[in-house]
Amino acid sequence: MANITFDTHRCKGCGLCVIFCPCGNIRMSDVLNEHGHPYAELIDQGRCTGCGLCFRMCPDTAIEIDRKKTAK
Ligand code: SF4
Ligand code: SF4
Repeated sequence: MANITFDTHRCKGCGLCVIFCPCGNIRMSDVLNEHGHPYAELIDQGRCTGCGLCFRMCPDTAIEIDRKKTAK
């Protein structure tokens, strides 16, 4: 498991992370950020495998992964 965080201020709402998450674990917000974009949100931290695909796909470096919790 990994701890995924999204920077709601940097996210431009392109949706690439939503498309590429193999777990279907990312959704777009119902509200807009200060730039007028919906932003990505993790649905369930416990379902995230820490694969890093969302992190690698994001063109705006709006996703951070903390893998310190991947002990096993
Ligand atoms: S790290 Fe992988 S499983 Fe977790 S949210 Fe990103 S794409 Fe989905
Ligand atoms: S890939 Fe990045 S910019 Fe695009 S919706 Fe996801 S977090 Fe936002």
